[in-house]
Amino acid sequence: MGETGVAETMERVYGYPASLTRANTHYCPGCVHGIVHRLVAEVLDELEIRERAIGVAPVGCAVLAYNYINTDFVEAAHGRAPAMATGLKRVNPDKVVFTYQGDGDLAAIGTAEIIHAANRGELITTVFINNAIYGMTGGQMAPTTLQGMVTTSTPTGRDCLLAGYPMRMSEILAQTAGAVYVAREAALDVAGIRRTKRAIKRAFLAQVHGLGFACVEVLATCPTNWNMDPWAAMQWAKENLGAFYPVETFRMTEEVRGLGV
Ligand code: SF4
Repeated sequence: MGETGVAETMERVYGYPASLTRANTHYCPGCVHGIVHRLVAEVLDELEIRERAIGVAPVGCAVLAYNYINTDFVEAAHGRAPAMATGLKRVNPDKVVFTYQGDGDLAAIGTAEIIHAANRGELITTVFINNAIYGMTGGQMAPTTLQGMVTTSTPTGRDCLLAGYPMRMSEILAQTAGAVYVAREAALDVAGIRRTKRAIKRAFLAQVHGLGFACVEVLATCPTNWNMDPWAAMQWAKENLGAFYPVETFRMTEEVRGLGV
């Protein structure tokens, strides 16, 4: 069966979300962005919120998220997606506003924006992809890069005494008073992808029900900049990212629990 045949069969069996365009992907083979885009699209469909959703795209590999997720989108300056989402939501309270950000965008230049948006309890949803590296710019160290991890800017491995320690953003965001739901998932195997979808759905529902700020961090891969094939990258991520960044729900208020997702 050719590539087209496989795609057609998959579509027949699993369907194709209306919230996903049919644009050819620019992501590298084995990149998790495509998986998470589909999960977001499926959630928009299932909650029937596509027509009133506005996404805010980051700077980074996911800068073209608006080519794939079939809803209104705006592009933010690097790290400023939560600030832009705040404005959009405040002047359009009936809209469902979400940011889609990588670790370079959210955990480095955008640290202030995300922490204060969470602390203010902005009614926005954040999907945060953590692959422990700057992807688009060629594989430099990110705040989430693990100790000893080789990147183009840490060719002998990250030395935490020199470069600081990896940031556990979900643990930090969960401490803010305005966050109602903060969870870390790993889209690295079938079970993890299912859990990730459930978490993303919960995060969108928290906004739909007006409960507060919600964020789902997703452990992901960057086979290209890790210099691994896609399968090895998945295994490496499970063993190494998963060891430092545990999959966990760090904050879930009773109201969010009551949503029953
Ligand atoms: S560079 Fe990394 S994060 Fe960017 S598209 Fe390629 S695999 Fe994905």
